[in-house]
Amino acid sequence: MKKLLPERDDNRVESLEQEREGMAHALIIGGGVAGPTAAIALQKIGIDATVYEAYATTAHDVGASMGISLNGLDALRTLDAHTVVRDAGFPVPRGIMWLGNGRRLGEGHTGTPLPDGTLPIVIGRYDLYAALREEALRRGVPIHHGKRLAHIGQRGDQVAAVFTDGTEAVGDLLIGADGIRSTTRHFVAPHAPRPRYVGLIGTGGITREVAPQSDPGVMNMVFGRRAFFASMASPDGSVWWFANLPWADEPTATDLAATSGSQWQERLLQAFAEDRSPAARLIRATPPDYTWFPMHDMHAPERWHRGRVVLIGDAAHVSSASSGQGASMAFEDAVQLARCLRDRDDPPAAFHDYQRLRVDRVSKVLAGAKQVNRSKAATGVSRVLRDVTFPLFMRKFSTPGAFAWLYDHRIDFDRPIDDQLSP
Ligand SMILES: Cc1cc2nc3c(=O)[nH]c(=O)nc-3n(C[C@H](O)[C@H](O)[C@H](O)COP(=O)(O)OP(=O)(O)OC[C@H]3O[C@@H](n4cnc5c(N)ncnc54)[C@H](O)[C@@H]3O)c2cc1C
Repeated sequence: MKKLLPERDDNRVESLEQEREGMAHALIIGGGVAGPTAAIALQKIGIDATVYEAYATTAHDVGASMGISLNGLDALRTLDAHTVVRDAGFPVPRGIMWLGNGRRLGEGHTGTPLPDGTLPIVIGRYDLYAALREEALRRGVPIHHGKRLAHIGQRGDQVAAVFTDGTEAVGDLLIGADGIRSTTRHFVAPHAPRPRYVGLIGTGGITREVAPQSDPGVMNMVFGRRAFFASMASPDGSVWWFANLPWADEPTATDLAATSGSQWQERLLQAFAEDRSPAARLIRATPPDYTWFPMHDMHAPERWHRGRVVLIGDAAHVSSASSGQGASMAFEDAVQLARCLRDRDDPPAAFHDYQRLRVDRVSKVLAGAKQVNRSKAATGVSRVLRDVTFPLFMRKFSTPGAFAWLYDHRIDFDRPIDDQLSP
């Protein structure tokens, strides 16, 4: 078998103050959001990392947009990496919720701006992946594309990643950042709960063909009679939108491809026909080349680690797109994992404490997203009930401080983890 040796820059590694015995080199599987971030975070504590990405190029799902909230941007800030992501998107600090009948439900709090004025952003998925990849490369992190993990072997104090092309890489620890369909998760927790379809499919688009109805910086979210629609104006004059449609049984890629773009456009128009919202205008103005995503969530497995192997990001837990937190949770995971590796003598001890630091927070995010998904998927009587009870929910959402636990969460990178973990 051909050995794929991690490319090490020995001068740099030796010059790091904290070359860590038995933790000198990490293999990171997945070059999406969590992977490059983890590599940057490990570099900060003196652990060299190599990223292995299955796809030959960066970023699939090119068209999708993502919101990155202040807790996620602040986690990147601890690595001096938030500006590259922030500047690849545009600020959207306000979120206003509406019912399909045109009733304004209220405005939610999106957290306290970072000290340098950074606000929550919306960013293209491609741009997010590219920004993180470029930043990791700029800092000297090797990223190998076309390397799909097939299986993992543990050999004493070493761990080997075997790829589908027959090559292998060996390191002191392995971080599974390989997303919702994680291969690493099969190794760590073979009986873990599988991703669960939440009864919604999502798509989105960008158009320059209509004048924005709102100022840039506002996301208008409409809980419509039959579906959910959100739109926001970008400072460049384009309007970005996304839609979630209730869909009973999880469709396969083949099912979704069986409907043509113009048929999908017609379905979307029907779904929003009774709502007072900009949906129809924006959908008509956007070329109907949709990418659809069935939406999932997944509880974290009981253990997020096994031996010298650990899970982060969607490989560990999936809160569904409705949380707007998947990428931010991945950033937080990467930073907290690095702190634990810094403060513990061996990977298993660090992984144990990393899970302790993260588990309650990611469970709470997942629970919140479930509630939003129920509101988006509501039809018939449950939709009527939703519309009656929504103002109560909004009262909570609009209360200053109600979501401080989420958006104002700040990680103090330098603080020893023992200060945070009760015995
Ligand atoms: C439609 C949609 C909208 C979303 N909107 C938002 C949003 O607004 N805000 C937000 O924060 N989150 C959002 N999310 C969620 C967010 O995209 C994920 O939570 C985030 O990308 C997780 O990062 P990750 O690095 O764990 O996984 P990913 O970004 O999926 O990266 C995993 C990487 O691992 C690679 N990989 C997989 N298997 C292997 C293997 N065997 N070997 C090697 N490499 C492998 C993949 O190719 C991929 O590059 C959305 C998701 C969807 C689908």
